[in-house]
Amino acid sequence: AGSGKFFVGGNWKCNGTKDSISKLVSDLNSATLESDVDVVVTPPFVYLDQVKNTLIERIEIAAQNCWTGKGGAFTGEISVEQLKDLGCKWVILGHSERRHILGENNEFIGKKAAYALSQNLGVIACIGELLEEREAGKTFDICFQQMKAFADAVPSWDDIVIAYEPVWAIGTGKVATPEQAQEVHVAVRDWLSKNVTAEVASKTRIIYGGSVNAGNCAELAKKEDIDGFLVGGASLKVLSCYSRGLCQ
Ligand code: PEP
Repeated sequence: AGSGKFFVGGNWKCNGTKDSISKLVSDLNSATLESDVDVVVTPPFVYLDQVKNTLIERIEIAAQNCWTGKGGAFTGEISVEQLKDLGCKWVILGHSERRHILGENNEFIGKKAAYALSQNLGVIACIGELLEEREAGKTFDICFQQMKAFADAVPSWDDIVIAYEPVWAIGTGKVATPEQAQEVHVAVRDWLSKNVTAEVASKTRIIYGGSVNAGNCAELAKKEDIDGFLVGGASLKVLSCYSRGLCQ
């Protein structure tokens, strides 16, 4: 396991309205959260300010993306400085929807990670293979290439949480088994040990994402190298998934 608390992020993706988000925030404000779990929510950009102003401080805020450098003439982009100004602590980078729907590549994602970290914005660095890559026996190769792109770009691993999210498990209801997730988490930790340092390998949190819900989180959380979750769909409605699954 990495060091630090179990880490659970709710990725709200491109969902919500002012009203539905206000309801979700009020539910989160009164939810029972485990004291040894870092809880983070990731609202769409346009609701970040609303959420920051109404959510309890104990829950941190992440953005779903950011620009590669300082803001300026980049129409439609959101800068790291703006995210910090709104009180964000984290940004999700390399999410599979951005890689595979928006066409972001490893190099572009690496640049964003480097810039975010240089401005003290923590990075939730997503990696994961497609179904055909898993079936072709390339899971480790793909994950290691994605890891290398982050490693080549970032100045330090102090503020990075790695999210292993097999693409075939995201939004599909088809969760990886605890054994499948653990196998990749161990391999990624081993990669860090060989390619970064043993210290980074032992302290970096590696969280799992892909159809996590209140019914399967407790079993996944039991695995030694699963240090938390990135939860999509369920994070909008089932607040007991913001946990190790101990207080359902
Ligand atoms: C995600 O968006 O990171 C995710 C894991 O989604 P879901 O939980 O809906 O599979």
